[in-house]
Amino acid sequence: MPEATHDDTEAEIKDWFRTINIAGKPLNDQELLNATYSGPFVTAAKAVFSNSSNANMQKWKAFVAGDEKRQAILAKALEWVSKGDVRDYLKDHRYSSDITELTRYFESVIAWIDGVFKETRSEMCGIEWGRLYETYHVQPYDPDKVWERVESLFADADDGKIQNRRNIFEYVLGGEVDKKLLKVRMFSVEIARKVYRRQTEEANARGVSNCPDCASGHKANASRIYAFSEMEADHVSAWSRGGDTAEANCQMLCKHHNRVKGNC
Ligand SMILES: [Zn+2]
Repeated sequence: MPEATHDDTEAEIKDWFRTINIAGKPLNDQELLNATYSGPFVTAAKAVFSNSSNANMQKWKAFVAGDEKRQAILAKALEWVSKGDVRDYLKDHRYSSDITELTRYFESVIAWIDGVFKETRSEMCGIEWGRLYETYHVQPYDPDKVWERVESLFADADDGKIQNRRNIFEYVLGGEVDKKLLKVRMFSVEIARKVYRRQTEEANARGVSNCPDCASGHKANASRIYAFSEMEADHVSAWSRGGDTAEANCQMLCKHHNRVKGNC
């Protein structure tokens, strides 16, 4: 049996080089896989997924990034259906010309995105839709509500309140629970009030200002107790440098000192 393995490998290598020579330029991963596992399956799959005149191509490219002629759409279709085991999938299907499972799965993912999201945005291109489909496709969604939330969160992102714009889709699909996805910049009023109460109690006990920067100064405000409305929530470790928008990273500063500290 080692002989057969050896022959296979040699044939594969010859296939690679033949294709490399035809193309005249370095092959990307999917092109190499296509060459390695060349046969009826790859031929049939390419006729669908790397065919620029396919009527669905425009729609697919709204969600999948890359050049179909360099096998970017096929690569995604294979990744989704195989859950990442593309090489094994190609190995198993190499000598079959039946690509039904591949096309059906891909179409299911696309149809799901289309059904949940009423419109498209440029940010939808290149999202890990295969993973999101697996995680969320059994859940019911109201497309009107979903799109309203998506647009509203993108408006927040445009205002600089959210850093990870592309995670907005996943955040909404997950019921807006996982705030870490967005890297939200604004502290909630609940957190701000909680921190305000704690800081103010401590400041009163020590007879100093509830703004830590005022308290460490030597001016008249060193013992001033500010009202909640006179203070702003600040990231102790800067948001722009990865600081969390979480209670542990929140301090209340007087408006003056928050502005002096700058936009972080
Ligand atoms: Zn202050």
